[in-house]
Amino acid sequence: MALSRPDLLAPYLSLDQGGKIQAEYVWIDGDNGLRSKTTTLPKVPKDISELRIWDFDGSSTNQAPGHDSDVYLRPAAIFRDPFRRGDNILVLAETYNNDGTPNATNHRHFAKKVMDQAKDTIPWFGLEQEYTLFDVDDHPLGWPKGGFPGPQGPYYCGVGAGKVFARDLIEAHYRACLYAGVKISGINAEVMPAQWEFQVGPCEGIEMGDHLWIARFLLVRIAEQFNVKVSFHPKPLQGDWNGAGCHTNFSTKAMREKGGIAAIDEAIEKLSKRHHEHIAVYGDDNELRLSGRHETAHIGAFSSGVANRGASVRIPRQVAAQGFGYLEDRRPASNIDPYRVTGIIVETVLL
Ligand code: ADP
Ligand code: MN
Ligand code: MN
Ligand code: MN
Repeated sequence: MALSRPDLLAPYLSLDQGGKIQAEYVWIDGDNGLRSKTTTLPKVPKDISELRIWDFDGSSTNQAPGHDSDVYLRPAAIFRDPFRRGDNILVLAETYNNDGTPNATNHRHFAKKVMDQAKDTIPWFGLEQEYTLFDVDDHPLGWPKGGFPGPQGPYYCGVGAGKVFARDLIEAHYRACLYAGVKISGINAEVMPAQWEFQVGPCEGIEMGDHLWIARFLLVRIAEQFNVKVSFHPKPLQGDWNGAGCHTNFSTKAMREKGGIAAIDEAIEKLSKRHHEHIAVYGDDNELRLSGRHETAHIGAFSSGVANRGASVRIPRQVAAQGFGYLEDRRPASNIDPYRVTGIIVETVLL
């Protein structure tokens, strides 16, 4: 059932656009998923201020009731469009209600305020987005039908048939991110077969959430062409299989300078005092993942350690050795809203 026919599509995509630009507005829906729709622009916008506020039917995205369904899209960031190429763009937009208040799913609005307050500390983030691929019948991609692959071991950073699946899709996504202007910093196959990771960062402040959401959009959109489903569930398969997280690496200017380990220790002390507040915004179903097994710390208590992948917060060995750098919060789940996570970290550590 080949619905996608790149060979038939190609001649149309090579037609000129009559001087017009296509802008794909992308937003976060009411279920932590992504939506997008396209509008034609008369010319290339100089910056975000030249893009119009648009609207959509929020009753169809779980973002508004039917009797008051208009939700507004306010452009927040522009990326290059790797699908349509040329001068065409992707526009990440924030969602606002009719009365001007941010929509319930617009966590960027609040994160931006926090980031602006902490601007002088120059907060950097790097996110490690883990995710799992399924075929259209909801079967883990590449897993034998009616059985299981061999136990975990050969798959992490694996090379070779039977060890990694869907490398074409992963390569396509990596290049699309680079083209779009997403600050993607790497990829690797994960411990569980059909699970992968990409890293985005370092990004400063609000930029972290913007770049991660667009990286997710590109992944889901490209996987659509491959007829593959992307799951961001933190424990997509029960049993002796690793869950999926979104480790959040964090530093400030002070932490990155000589002697910065003192600021890192201080930050960890503050994080330890607000463990439950953080867990509350570190992703749904995260209790299924943070079991104390499979390279996680138990959800019930905060812990930290150098090079310890069984701790809530890890100080990388290299950082401890040189006495400055960053910390890794290992608690966030793969399905986080990165605006909430980066926002609360800045709030707890810096404000
Ligand atoms: P791991 O060893 O935990 O798998 P990765 O290499 O997957 O680590 O990811 C490390 C992440 O840390 C990358 O996203 C990178 O951008 C980020 N990072 C590196 N240095 C800093 C820093 N000073 N502040 C914040 N993030 C950083
Ligand atoms: Mn990693
Ligand atoms: Mn990983
Ligand atoms: Mn990590």
